[in-house]
Amino acid sequence: MTAPETASIAPKTDKPMSAPAPQPSSAAVMPTYARANVVFERGEGSWLISTTGERYLDFGSGVAVNALGHAHPKLVAALTEQASKLWHCSNLYRVAGQEQVAARLIEATFADTVFFCNSGAEACEGAIKLARRYHYANGHPERWRTITFKGAFHGRTLATIAAARNPKHLEGFGEPADGFDSVTLGDLEATEAAIGPNTGAIMVEPVQGEGGVNALPPAWLKGLRELCDRHGLLLILDEVQTGVGRTGKLFAHEWAGITPDAMAIAKGIGGGFPLGAVLATKEAAKGMVAGTHGSTFGGNPLASAVGAEVVAMLETGEFQQRAVEIGALLEEGLRPLIGEGLQGLRIRGAWAGVDVDPLLMTGRQMCEALMHRSVLAKDTHGSTLRFAPPLVASDDDVRLMVDAVRDVLRAG
Ligand code: PLP
Repeated sequence: MTAPETASIAPKTDKPMSAPAPQPSSAAVMPTYARANVVFERGEGSWLISTTGERYLDFGSGVAVNALGHAHPKLVAALTEQASKLWHCSNLYRVAGQEQVAARLIEATFADTVFFCNSGAEACEGAIKLARRYHYANGHPERWRTITFKGAFHGRTLATIAAARNPKHLEGFGEPADGFDSVTLGDLEATEAAIGPNTGAIMVEPVQGEGGVNALPPAWLKGLRELCDRHGLLLILDEVQTGVGRTGKLFAHEWAGITPDAMAIAKGIGGGFPLGAVLATKEAAKGMVAGTHGSTFGGNPLASAVGAEVVAMLETGEFQQRAVEIGALLEEGLRPLIGEGLQGLRIRGAWAGVDVDPLLMTGRQMCEALMHRSVLAKDTHGSTLRFAPPLVASDDDVRLMVDAVRDVLRAG
């Protein structure tokens, strides 16, 4: 083996190689996020601790990722045990942890088979590809289009921004990828009218998260299921944010008593470790044969070790129950604030979409004001923000957050 050429590793400047490491700076990171000027170095349950020692109640949960809080001892143990054995192993070989997560998910859901990836967008794309391959395998390659809904969010890849049709996310990225027809959420007639000879699937979030915790009425989800059955379409659910106990069930569609043909999940399933998955029935996945899809890191041993522990922890139903209890506390605390600065409130388990009076402040300003009171939340759009407490949050944590909201509204 020859050593790399020195020219290729030469420093860009004339600083000697032994110069001290450069100081970290936010300017070194591509500015695609409007970041708050705080750095967290530790997490404990519902709390994040900054480098300057301040404690913040994390009711954003890393955008609904840390469902089991920060540094849960069981997840730390699962990860560190795996870390001393094997980090990565190609999907060219069997991955034991992956098979364990898949078996547990199959046991707990409608699914017969699972594909592992790293993120929500990748899971959504995988589900879209699965639907196209299903029709291809059935001799109908022309049925490649997917119906999606206004206000949706499925990720930031080229296909998923085209699927969700949010003009802000599409701007500057050229022609949106073809293959998606976006219709108004809640309008079954318009949905049926949009079904054409090229339609192969309908993709929907049972509760729109980025849309501000907008839950679809169960009857409407049932209506979508019937439409799919009648027209031979696959129903794809995006449970990237609604899944893994957040709404008080393992997956939100359970509230409607329906099952999808395919489902994209991510966020909570890895408890903070990047892990996503596409769950599907055997029939829906019939086109996904060797060579059709892949992901180098998808479901690698580290991610799978954590994922297996997360699913095991949710098997008792204890965290789903806690999500319902947290929801009741949110309702009790926030509902009285309607008319006192709050205009709207939508609660689904441990998840609250809150509309602030737009004359008072925007959702973003509200989040900033809450952060000054050491509470983290996430704005969605306009005057709406969202709380996604971890399912390990205590009653006192929730009360503290409600008190902070009340204080901010009173201070105007
Ligand atoms: N789908 C939904 C419903 C989401 O909420 C998100 C992220 O917020 C995604 C997909 C994309 O997930 P990721 O950011 O992991 O790609």
